[in-house]
Amino acid sequence: MLEKSGSTRSRLAKVAMMSEYLRGLGEEELGIAARFLSGEIYPRGSGMDAGVGYRMLLDVAAQVTGASEEELLRTYRAHGDLGDALQEILGSGRIAQPPLVPAEPLSLKGVYDEFVRLAGIAGEGSYQRKIVRLRGLLTSCSPLEAKYVVKLLLGELRTGAVEGVVEQAIAEAFGAKPEDVKRARLMTGDLGEVAILARRGALGSVGISPLRPLDFMLAEALASPEEAVERYPGKALIAEYKYDGVRAQVHAVGEEVRIFSRRLEDVTWSFPEVVEGVRGLNAVLDGEVVAFRDGAPLPFHELQRRLRRKNPQELSDEVPVVYFAYDVLYMDGRSLVDLPLSDRKRLLSELLPEKRGAISTSPWWTIRSAEEIAELFRRSRDEGYEGLMLKDPDSAYELGKRGWKWMKLKEELDTLDAVVVGAEYGHGKRAGLLSDLIFAVWDGDLLKVVGKAYSGLTDREIEWVTKRLRELEIRDEGLRIYVRPEIVVEVAFDLVQESDRHDGGYALRFPRIKALRSDKGPEDADTMDKLRWLAKMAKRRGTLHQ
Ligand code: ATP
Repeated sequence: MLEKSGSTRSRLAKVAMMSEYLRGLGEEELGIAARFLSGEIYPRGSGMDAGVGYRMLLDVAAQVTGASEEELLRTYRAHGDLGDALQEILGSGRIAQPPLVPAEPLSLKGVYDEFVRLAGIAGEGSYQRKIVRLRGLLTSCSPLEAKYVVKLLLGELRTGAVEGVVEQAIAEAFGAKPEDVKRARLMTGDLGEVAILARRGALGSVGISPLRPLDFMLAEALASPEEAVERYPGKALIAEYKYDGVRAQVHAVGEEVRIFSRRLEDVTWSFPEVVEGVRGLNAVLDGEVVAFRDGAPLPFHELQRRLRRKNPQELSDEVPVVYFAYDVLYMDGRSLVDLPLSDRKRLLSELLPEKRGAISTSPWWTIRSAEEIAELFRRSRDEGYEGLMLKDPDSAYELGKRGWKWMKLKEELDTLDAVVVGAEYGHGKRAGLLSDLIFAVWDGDLLKVVGKAYSGLTDREIEWVTKRLRELEIRDEGLRIYVRPEIVVEVAFDLVQESDRHDGGYALRFPRIKALRSDKGPEDADTMDKLRWLAKMAKRRGTLHQ
């Protein structure tokens, strides 16, 4: 089905094919199929992760096909995709070794169960044990099936566009309204479950279920205080400090607590004091974990030290945190996302009337003019915050959406989140370390290189980056390597200029790596559109200053 729908460019034809296929499946297979079609493996919030990376798949592919790593990499480069490369090699009839695990005929359920087993392998020797299972799985696959197993494991089928197509197919298959399917997807985050509910005609009953992560609402960037007022003439806006911390969604159902990061990963264990603080509540909160001592925020890198520790308790005295809650999405059995922000704020202060251990509500103000915004902005900077967030008081909480209902104002406009696609070895003290990072931003589906920077990272961070880059390596050119796009860095610079030095058509002047953004994934990196916008702003500012 994946191959068939991929072979047509017509959205309508894809939808028709998928809906017919989904309609013909039994309930259990329907859930699995809808998830696979959208590029997901496990149900949202299950906490399962196959933990299979590119390196491991290359090792398995070499074992299964008997091809040398060089041959594999050559085929990979020709296709630009490991799934396609494996299909080609297996398609030529190459199976070097019989499976160690007896091969059963492949069914959707069989493949899914195997993925579940993979997620369950942990601890010592897990790399080898996973390889054995993967060998079993891949040798019982046809070349075409192998291709999609690999793509699913690498998360390469996950795109926003595909999600929309599967939603539409579910609606068509079971006679549901597309907007009801979309809403259910936003609430559950799991198209498998949505498909089953659609078949049962039960989409109307879907609400937020706590302990399962929801997509975050995101903000657009303002160029100036005036712009906010221009967008909302005459309207009072809610203003809050912009914290330089880690976005966190905190779910509490009595004694049970889960904390999810911006990438919807379960980070509960990192913040024991936040867990303690919300125990006993029955709510879902949105907010920021901030390193905070003596009434003032600490820089972001302090917080990162805690994120990297195996045992976060060790650092909880040295780097204490506060969770600043700025929104509430669910309370006492009721979903609040459709209420206006001003109502949610009121409910939040009823829920948390005063500081509760490490939990605090975020202070907020009502502002109307550009002067007030500028004044509050200065105050936020003086107190050590990153800037301001401005929010429309009448807005619903729009799950998973970036828009102008939330706006951010930062001093340093000129930073960019970019993905590292390659690196070069440093000199002198940094010989043997990959300290010069080549980074890229999205242009549609493609990553375009926009610069290279000698990193401003600490020695520890560079060591970590070097190790991680080697794991992600796909091509070695001696002094330079190319890697799978996984690591996101925040790049500061002075100006964006048009240039043909890089393939993106723009170059950054004086780029420096400001921070590793381990809270972000490659899909969160910025786009060429932002660069074009920054170049335009730089030009405009240039003329203003003349
Ligand atoms: P950035 O790189 O600026 O942190 P982002 O891409 O992570 O941005 P955006 O939605 O564009 O996310 O910007 C808002 C971000 O600012 C949020 O994701 C959140 O982590 C952070 N933030 C800090 N304080 C607030 C606040 N009071 N309200 C909302 N978000 C806040």
